[in-house]
Amino acid sequence: MLVINKINPLKAKIGALKRKGLTIGFVPTMGALHEGHLSLMRRAGRETDIVVVSIFVNPMQFGPKEDYKRYPRPVQQDLHLCRSAGVDIVFSPSDKEIYPFTARPFRTSPQASDTLTRTFVDMYKLTETMCGKSRPGHFRGVLTVVNKLFNIVEPDIAYFGQKDYQQALVIKQMVTDLNMDVQVKVMPIVREKDGLAMSSRNKYLTPAERQEAICLYRALLKATELICSSRRPVSAVKIIGAMKGIINSVRHSRIDYIAVVDPQTLEPIKTITYRQVLIALAVYIGKTRLIDNFLICK
Ligand code: AMP
Repeated sequence: MLVINKINPLKAKIGALKRKGLTIGFVPTMGALHEGHLSLMRRAGRETDIVVVSIFVNPMQFGPKEDYKRYPRPVQQDLHLCRSAGVDIVFSPSDKEIYPFTARPFRTSPQASDTLTRTFVDMYKLTETMCGKSRPGHFRGVLTVVNKLFNIVEPDIAYFGQKDYQQALVIKQMVTDLNMDVQVKVMPIVREKDGLAMSSRNKYLTPAERQEAICLYRALLKATELICSSRRPVSAVKIIGAMKGIINSVRHSRIDYIAVVDPQTLEPIKTITYRQVLIALAVYIGKTRLIDNFLICK
């Protein structure tokens, strides 16, 4: 497994592999890897010749009061996991390598996007709701870095997790809107035994909070039960009410949002009839913000 920190040597290596006719599968990550990330890497390994993983905690997608500084960075452990998942190349650039135009030092505070880059990618509509509403500028940071990484890695297929449903959707939209030559695949959410969606941020939870964190999954199960057991259309108000009941019964929880939306447009659905619906939520357990979602097909 090659570990490359600089853009130019990575581009040279990938160029040489492509000239041999090999296909590139790409898994962008922020590190602190877990089985969710590894499932994407293994899938890439089955479907493409060369698996490239990026590990980069992207300052541009963090808000000023968010966890950029304390985000876990277990470098050696991550490299070990990548090796075990059959990854060929890990791209692990410094902040300066990705954002050479930076006006302030990194790692002291997250950067306002205009001090990191002059050019950026942004999107209307899909980014104005759910996580985009709670985290202003977040998707501008995500889209900009993913665009840069796609230009650097030039993957044939890029793999994302459904865990970050809105992220995967906006990336697919960017690829369509900007005519980018990459196929985006979205893989299922990998969960702990008790149903908690795996996340690098689960590491922040105290043992008590870890127990409480199951409320997101339990709320999603309740929503599914309400939708699937009723022969008549169910109102979003009823679903959200039932989910709130479950989450609010947990001591350290605070709901950021619960969304009952169209899976393609992310526009709210008032009444669930016979079509697909996305139920997505973000909940603070203590200071840790967790997200999860179910795509339900009635
Ligand atoms: P992150 O390192 O959190 O930016 O995640 C990198 C990629 O892994 C994103 O495409 C995530 O959606 C995906 N991912 C994170 N957690 C999971 C999970 N539990 N199951 C599947 N994919 C995941």
